[in-house]
Amino acid sequence: MNKRVLVVEDSQVIQRLVEVCLRPAGFEVTLASDGPSGLNAALSDPPDLVILDVGLPGMDGWEVLSHIRADERTRDVTVLVLTAHAQEETREKADRDGADAFLTKPFRPNELRATALELAEGVRTAQTI
Ligand code: CA
Repeated sequence: MNKRVLVVEDSQVIQRLVEVCLRPAGFEVTLASDGPSGLNAALSDPPDLVILDVGLPGMDGWEVLSHIRADERTRDVTVLVLTAHAQEETREKADRDGADAFLTKPFRPNELRATALELAEGVRTAQTI
């Protein structure tokens, strides 16, 4: 069965890049372009993996993540945080707030695909937190 991934990202360029990376790897990709619709999509039909941008309109990725972790429907959903900020404190925040992995933009397509596949299989590597 295909793994279902919800991509919450306001940049259409990144949305498209993620789709092009993950569809051929067997993921069923759903897109959301802002925080509230991403959270609603996650809660109403919990995916296997959420790829979550931090800088989002409506509600930022950290707030979406906290709602995802606070709701029993999505508490255990795997979350990959995407951010343009590579600072160590951002990585620590992702870890503290319950993200399963962290990827800095710009990322290489192969890196995203490999990380998503590992997360979908429940395998943690050095690349993940
Ligand atoms: Ca953004």
